[in-house]
Amino acid sequence: MSVITPIVEAPGDAAPVSSLIDPFGRSVSYLRVSVTDRCDMRCVYCMAEDMQFLPKRDILSLEELDRLCSAFISRGVKKLRITGGEPLVRRGIEGFFQSLSRHLESGALHELTLTTNGSQLARHAANLAAAGVRRVNVSLDTLDPAKFRIITRWGDFSQVMRGLDAAQDAGIAVKINMVALRGVNDDEIADMLLWAHGRGADLTLIEVMPLGDIDQERASQYLPLTEAESRLSERFALRPIDHRTGGPARYLRVEETGGRLGLITPHTHNFCEACNRVRVTCTGTLYMCLGQEDSADLRAPLRASDSDELLLQTIDAAISRKPKGHDFIIDRQVVPPQLGRHMSVTGG
Ligand code: SAM
Ligand code: SF4
Repeated sequence: MSVITPIVEAPGDAAPVSSLIDPFGRSVSYLRVSVTDRCDMRCVYCMAEDMQFLPKRDILSLEELDRLCSAFISRGVKKLRITGGEPLVRRGIEGFFQSLSRHLESGALHELTLTTNGSQLARHAANLAAAGVRRVNVSLDTLDPAKFRIITRWGDFSQVMRGLDAAQDAGIAVKINMVALRGVNDDEIADMLLWAHGRGADLTLIEVMPLGDIDQERASQYLPLTEAESRLSERFALRPIDHRTGGPARYLRVEETGGRLGLITPHTHNFCEACNRVRVTCTGTLYMCLGQEDSADLRAPLRASDSDELLLQTIDAAISRKPKGHDFIIDRQVVPPQLGRHMSVTGG
C-alpha cells in the first residue's frame, strides 16, 4: 500500500465549511459511519448480552458505503470517522480504508480516522497507517484486566494492549476514550490519566448516554463529569485549552503531565450549539442527531440509480431538517431508554 500524507487540521483551526448547511447555520463537515452493528465485545453500557443484530441482507456492502461516503465528501465533508459496532471485525475493512484514502490524496478529505475497541488493532494497524489513518480513538474504561472483562463481558485486556502498541509503533496517534461509570471505574480516572499521558496518548472522558435497552439500570451508571473534573482538580492543575479535533470534546491541559484531557459532556455541558456532525448506519440510515429519532433512508436512493443525483438530493433534504440538539435526560424516573437504538447501531 502507498503511504498517504493527509492534511491534518491544525489545533485551533476554524471548522472547515461544507455546502451542507443546516437550518441553524451550522456547517456539516464531519461524518461518522458505522460499518457494522456487530462486535466482539458486549460492553455493559452499550449492549445487552443477547443482542439481536441486523439481518445481513439489510447491510450495505463496503462498495455501497464507499459511494455513500464519497457523496458526502463531494458535498464538503472533510472528516470521516469509521465506527461501529466494532469496525475492525467487518471483513474487507482494510480495503475500504485503502479505497477511501483516495480522498485524502486528492485533498478533498482532511482526515480519515476510526473508533475501535482495539481488539483487532494489532493485525490492522500498519495497513491503516498506510491508508492515511493518523489518529485513532481506542475505547478503554479500566486498567484492571478482571474489571475489563466485567465491563466488556467478552474482551481480552492483553489483546487491546497489543493493539495499542501496534498503533503507536505504526505512528498512529492514540486517544483513549473512557466512559465514566459510577461505582465501576470512577476510582481509576486519575490512574488512567497518568497511564495514558505516560504513553503519549490523550484521554477523553465520556458521560454515559441513554441509548438502547441494556439489562442494567442506566441511572446508577451515570457519573456527571463536573464531579470527575472537580475531583481531578484536587490533584492536578487543569487548564482549559483551545484544542479542536472537530468533535464534541472540550479539552484541558494537565500541567503535571503535559497531556490533554478531553471531556464529552452531553448532560452537564451541552455541545449541540457547535454541532458539525451527522451519522450513517451500516444500513444507510442517516441520523442528523445522535440524540433524536428523525432519520433519512439513503439506501433506497443509493440503490435506485447509478447516478448520485437522488442520493445527494436526499442528503440535502435531510440536512435541512437537522434538529437544534438532543434532549438526553438520565433520570431514575425514566425507566425505558430514551432512544431505542444502541450506540453500536448509530455509531459512537
Ligand atoms: N466498538 C468501538 C469502540 O468501542 O470504540 C466503536 C463503537 S462504540 C459504540 C463507540 C464509543 O461509544 C465507545 O467509546 C463506547 O465506549 C461509547 N459508548 C457506547 N455506548 C455508550 C453509551 N451508552 N454512552 C456513552 N458512550 C457509549
Ligand atoms: Fe462493542 Fe464498542 Fe459497544 Fe463495547 S462500546 S460493545 S466494544 S460497540
